[in-house]
Amino acid sequence: MTDFPSPSDRSKVAAIAPAGAMLALFRPFLFATGAIAAALGTLMVLHKSGPPEIATIASPPAASAPQIVLNDPPAAPAVTSADFQGFQLKPEGAQREQASGQEAPAADRYELTLRLEKGDTVEKMLADIDVAEADRKQIDEKLQALLKKRHIAPGEEIVLDMQTVPGQPDAPRVLSLSVRPQPEHEYIVRRQDDGSYAGELKTYKVSPRIVRVETERHGSLQGSGVAAGAPSQAMIEFIRALAYDVDFQRELKQGQKFTVLLEQFVTSDGKVTHPGRLLAGELNLGKRTVTVIRFRPQGGAEGFYNAKGESVVRSFLRTPMDVSKVTSGFGMREHPILGYSAMHTGVDFGAPMGTPILAAGAGKVVMAGYNGGYGLFVKLEHTKDIGTGYGHMSRLGPGIKPGVSVRQGQVIGFVGSTGMSTGPHLHYEFYRGGHPVNPLAQKFAMQASLGGKDLQRFRAVASQYLAQMKNAPRAEEAAATALPRPTPKEAVPQLAKGDE
Ligand SMILES: [Zn+2]
Repeated sequence: MTDFPSPSDRSKVAAIAPAGAMLALFRPFLFATGAIAAALGTLMVLHKSGPPEIATIASPPAASAPQIVLNDPPAAPAVTSADFQGFQLKPEGAQREQASGQEAPAADRYELTLRLEKGDTVEKMLADIDVAEADRKQIDEKLQALLKKRHIAPGEEIVLDMQTVPGQPDAPRVLSLSVRPQPEHEYIVRRQDDGSYAGELKTYKVSPRIVRVETERHGSLQGSGVAAGAPSQAMIEFIRALAYDVDFQRELKQGQKFTVLLEQFVTSDGKVTHPGRLLAGELNLGKRTVTVIRFRPQGGAEGFYNAKGESVVRSFLRTPMDVSKVTSGFGMREHPILGYSAMHTGVDFGAPMGTPILAAGAGKVVMAGYNGGYGLFVKLEHTKDIGTGYGHMSRLGPGIKPGVSVRQGQVIGFVGSTGMSTGPHLHYEFYRGGHPVNPLAQKFAMQASLGGKDLQRFRAVASQYLAQMKNAPRAEEAAATALPRPTPKEAVPQLAKGDE
């Protein structure tokens, strides 16, 4: 018995479908393009540009006491017209990199890289560099036709191949204009022999590439990783995976080595479309090394495991809510509604109406709907043997319905008082072999381990990742082989201190 009669009418209500997942628009991460123009020995202007991304990457991590910093690096400061960068001129006819077979360009040709400012348009930008009105109108028209309804975001780089017209030094001609808002798509408007302009869309193939970032902790773990080239999101995942095992206050020291293995996506010409998803990571704490490996068991949710194939999640969440107090424990008690002594098969946590209820562990939703005295109820299956149940909810979490996988800590519903309940609380049950046991007594016994075929598959993945953490190309080496990379000095020729 519970705090309500044993549910016989297990009416199930289908959960409301989740709101469509937001597909994050991915913005290009590495800007080496402007730098390339400079390296090619031509003219480069940053058109009222924001500071190059490279400034953020190069900034040293703030020195601080051991702590986890999960915030992304602060946004670069707004740029005013005072920051309008000067331009770098190299002698005309300077060596220009050419694909083999192409004839050398005329000395009156130069490359220009501009960035759109907020409220700026391509046409206005071309007017600013004195392109003839008829030309810029046509270029803008062709570009808009090519982009369809997509608009070019402020800060986007526009690469121009320019030519000085004999006798008209103040009215340069645009030979081609190119913008690449996504690394896999390049929009080009090119001047034809007859002087008209035509649009062209170039598509680049995208494929995965595995790289490693190996560095030492100086300042925060997060900052050190980002400074060494790991994406902020991957570092957050790494830190969260470590948090179950590592005591950040006592065990983290300066100078500790760590490695993260990343899966990047790159275009056929070497542009990174995704800076890297965390596949595995290793932190050397001196006395011991902590390893985390991403793995998805058959039919289960993706998670991180140690090298032995044990989930890094050391135990289930002790309380499936952020703020809660136990209002009624597990065991025999006087039933508040029924008035007689009965077994309380779970633990009650008092919490305000609407408090989010979190999945105690990664698992699968096996029930989500009204369930007699339990009211609106969710049951999760974590392993064959272990399950959890959550009663009296006011409503279900987004996307929660039978069959879906959930991560530990995912919101599966909200505190309510549905079913047989005297007030807003969560009735939380924990099942072993199908029988309710005391959730609060289970904290050490709940580590999930892989077994059978999952474990076999995991071992293969783990040995591959462990080897790649030693021998995969470093993130910066991989970038260097893919992109014609100028030296740092050339890459940020106008970057002054304080610009970052
Ligand atoms: Zn209860």
